[in-house]
Order: sequence, then structure tokens, then C-alpha cells
Amino acid sequence: SPIISFKNISKEYSRNKVITKALDNISLDIEKGDIYGLIGSSGAGKSTLLRMINALEVPTSGKVFVKGIDINEISAKQLSMLRKDIGIIFQDFNLLESKNVFDNVAIPLILKHTPKNEISTRVAELLKFVGLEDKALSLPKELSGGQKQRVGIARALATNPSVLLCDEATSALDPNTTESILELLQRVNLELKVTIIFVTHTIRVIQKICNKVAILDGGKLIEHGRVIDVFSNP
Ligand code: ADP
Ligand code: ADP
Repeated sequence: SPIISFKNISKEYSRNKVITKALDNISLDIEKGDIYGLIGSSGAGKSTLLRMINALEVPTSGKVFVKGIDINEISAKQLSMLRKDIGIIFQDFNLLESKNVFDNVAIPLILKHTPKNEISTRVAELLKFVGLEDKALSLPKELSGGQKQRVGIARALATNPSVLLCDEATSALDPNTTESILELLQRVNLELKVTIIFVTHTIRVIQKICNKVAILDGGKLIEHGRVIDVFSNP
């Protein structure tokens, strides 16, 4: 059974009496182990759909199931537990600028009251995995964009999630840095067995790492399936 399932999802925003249909009857299954791409132009509804997976957005109608659980029908406590199983990384990294790399990665562990010695071991292991073992004491402003995203990835993985959401995670990076971040995400998928959902507006990124893709346009699901079927390689 799918790890994430969208069933007839619609989302309407109303502002100044103008209604925007951000998502229009989307049904989609994401299987365990997928690197699933969500592609479409700006305003297509990609971020809205992504943020429904950890209930940062709630559908106007339809249901979102994560591991078979309807995430809009659970208690606040259950939702907080579910969110520890779903990591997220962002285009602009969202690091705390006043905290060093170690402390940024430690945040999710501090929030779940992990003992100090366990935090040290775990953060060291995460920094090694992302290739930043020598940057623990650096501040975000001392890092390149690619290094900042590696910190974002380490922080997102701190609680050992089974799902990683990537919201335009390489859109602020140059092509070479994008390549290296995509290779790291492939290792996250293969070595750590993390299911990845990757929002982007770039086909090349999808072709590089995704096995499946859904194309959104104006809130509608235009096409979905295996990347090799949806985008035939030139
Ligand atoms: P993108 O996904 O293209 O990077 P955003 O998701 O930030 O950009 O926004 C896409 C569109 O949604 C923009 O036109 C923006 O103005 C609009 N938008 C985003 N958030 C809000 C909001 N809270 N209220 C109104 N419009 C918003
Ligand atoms: P994408 O990520 O593909 O750029 P979004 O999911 O951000 O698209 O936005 C889809 C549509 O919903 C856009 O028309 C956007 O303007 C609108 N939208 C997104 N968030 C809000 C919001 N909080 N309030 C009003 N409109 C929004």
C-alpha cells in the first residue's frame, strides 16, 4: 500500500472575495522508496500539495493518508509524532543564522528531549553523512549555498524520518552544486531508505533523480507516472 495517498484533493483560497482554486481534485499515490517529483510552473499548486503531507495545509475537500492514516483526523499529539517522521528542506534553507551548524542540526533532537550525549553522537553522524564534519562550529553565513542545504538536509534527517519533503530545494543553487545536492538526496533515498517528494519547476532535476513524476498545471493533475514514460529521453 502507498506510503502517501492523496484522494480527491481540492484546495480553495479566498481573499478579498476572490476565490483561487489552488488544487482541483488531485488523486495520487506515492510508494515507499519513491523519489517522486512534483513539477509545474509557478502557481501550479506544487507547494500547496507538498505542505498537505505534514498538514501545514489542509484540503478544502478530499483526504490525505500517510501510512494509511488520515492525517486531518488525528489528535495534535499524533500529528506532532507524525511530523517527526516527515523531514522538510526548503529553497532558502531556513537555518537559524545566530546558531552554528551543530546547533542547527541539533534543534529537532532538543525539541524531542534527546539526552545531550546522544545528541552529540547523532549530530556528528549526520554531519559525516552530509560531508560537513569539519564545519560543526561554523555559522550559516560562513557557508556556501550548497553547504547550507547540506545542513538543512542533516537537520531534516535528525529524527530519522521515513519521508523527506523537498520544496524547490535546489532552485537557489548553481548547476554544479545542484548536482552534488541531488547525489546526496539519492544516497538519502538508497542508503537511509527515505521516500522523497521533490517539488521543482525544472525537468532536468526530475530526470536526474526521480523515478516517478506528476505534472501540475493551474491546480490540475495533467499527467503522472514513471519518469521514463512521462519524459522520453532525447
Ligand atoms: P513559488 O512556489 O513559485 O516559489 P510561492 O509558493 O511563494 O512561490 O507563491 C506562489 C504564488 O502564491 C505567488 O503568486 C504568491 O503571491 C502567492 N502566495 C503565496 N503565499 C501566499 C499568501 N499567503 N497569500 C497570498 N498569496 C500567496
Ligand atoms: P506552486 O508551488 O506550484 O508555485 P502554490 O501551491 O504556491 O503553487 O500556489 C497555488 C495557487 O494558490 C497560486 O495561485 C497561489 O497564488 C495560491 N495560493 C497559495 N497559497 C495561498 C494563500 N495562502 N492564500 C491565497 N492564495 C494562495
